Amino acid sequence: SPQLVWFRQDLRTADQPALTAAAEKGPVVGLYVLDDDTPGKWKVGGAQRWWLHHSLAALSDELEKLGSALILRRGRSSKVVREVAEELGAGGVHATRHYEPWWREAECEHGDFVILHDGDVLHEPASIRSGAGKPFKIYGPFYRALESHMPPPRPLPAPRLTSPSKLPRSDKLADFDLLPTKPDWSGGFSEWEPGSKGAAKQLRRFLDHASDYASSRDLPAVDATSRLSPHLHHGEISPRQLWHELGRKGGEKIRRELAWRDFSRHVALSDPDVGEKSQRPIGLRTRHGKAADADFAAWTRGRTGYPLVDAGMRQLWHSGWMHNRARLVTASFLCKHLLLDWWRGADWFWDCLVDADYANNSQNWQWVAGTGFDSQPFYRIMAPLGQSEKFDAADYIRQWVPELARLSDADIHDPWGRGAAPSDYPEPLIGHREARERALEAFRKRGS
Ligand code: FAD
Repeated sequence: SPQLVWFRQDLRTADQPALTAAAEKGPVVGLYVLDDDTPGKWKVGGAQRWWLHHSLAALSDELEKLGSALILRRGRSSKVVREVAEELGAGGVHATRHYEPWWREAECEHGDFVILHDGDVLHEPASIRSGAGKPFKIYGPFYRALESHMPPPRPLPAPRLTSPSKLPRSDKLADFDLLPTKPDWSGGFSEWEPGSKGAAKQLRRFLDHASDYASSRDLPAVDATSRLSPHLHHGEISPRQLWHELGRKGGEKIRRELAWRDFSRHVALSDPDVGEKSQRPIGLRTRHGKAADADFAAWTRGRTGYPLVDAGMRQLWHSGWMHNRARLVTASFLCKHLLLDWWRGADWFWDCLVDADYANNSQNWQWVAGTGFDSQPFYRIMAPLGQSEKFDAADYIRQWVPELARLSDADIHDPWGRGAAPSDYPEPLIGHREARERALEAFRKRGS
């Protein structure tokens, strides 16, 4: 009997256990439901909608080439999946297990109706437990436990498919309205190629210089990281495929980073509210009101007067992605220098990142804010000017903050301090020393 595969963040055909299992049982049809109801406030963000449009087009092509088809529908997935399964007369419905709290609820609602397969992680995070049988809260011991389950199974090839003679009705991709119209802010997104083919190309590019990863991954001006995060989020490449490919060239360091992705999912499983609530609230009095809102707006636009922060925020807006070092510095700046609530920044990232990922974004923001179970203490305050020098961000700043492009390496990290700022570059929202004292004072007075 025909089998339905419900795709979500697993938009690929190779190493796709749900698809392979379906193909073993009968003719297959893929289904993607654009569901803005089930996730509530976590519906797919603006930048990611652009990605999703192109990724769905790519998946549809892939399925057609293999002999099947992708059906598109809109609505609440718990209802739509059943409707389409009925229209098809499906003998089985298959899906990849996901870890976002809203998807877990939807999976529970479906009960046995949907058969779940592992495909989003290196190793099923629910089965990784401490000696006492508890979930881990800290990355180090989690990683050691994960390592004992490595290597992951070898990736599966894309299955050969057949299609049932009669297909359920499909919406048109264009009717999903996923692409921006006016204004079209996606001009800078042209560097990306969503879809499995784009992921494979990106992986090959990365493998050519993967041996530089450990030494250069922290330098925002160097293209040393894989830039696979949006492909991984959308499941266009599986973490297991990546893990095996990385084995070749000095992959140990990047495998450790990839394991953070599994760790975030492990955390989101035991603490589904990680995106909404501080795990260990500090009781800090954060800033609210007009001045705080104006500072937040300046941060989002990359006009804080701190070159590395501004470069990161502008890279985010223009390309939908930000280098990890800049994510750390911009997020720390929001939480500590501006004393704003971390979730305001996390929400902005959610809307602007093509790799926005509930588990990764929430867990990393809590790490920076000092509110996570595993996190940097709040009183450890990153110096954005010092970070810029230490990680050699001059060319990164030149690329993203054109008004500073002519400054020398000596002046560019701190143009105001060096008396070299051009008139069109904003003054710092607050001096570093003053901000540091304000943050530490707030920390001392916390809970009072
Ligand atoms: P690489 O260095 O090549 O790493 C390979 C893969 O490992 C990444 O694609 C990613 O899937 C995973 N990975 C690497 N670092 C981390 C990490 N710290 N936590 C979890 N997974 C990691 N990553 C997201 O995928 N989505 C997010 O929404 C997100 N939000 C973040 C917010 C903040 C404040 C910070 C500090 C980090 C955030 N990260 C997020 C983690 C990290 O910055 C990105 O995964 C990384 O920069 C992506 O670039 P890359 O693919 O070149 O990474």
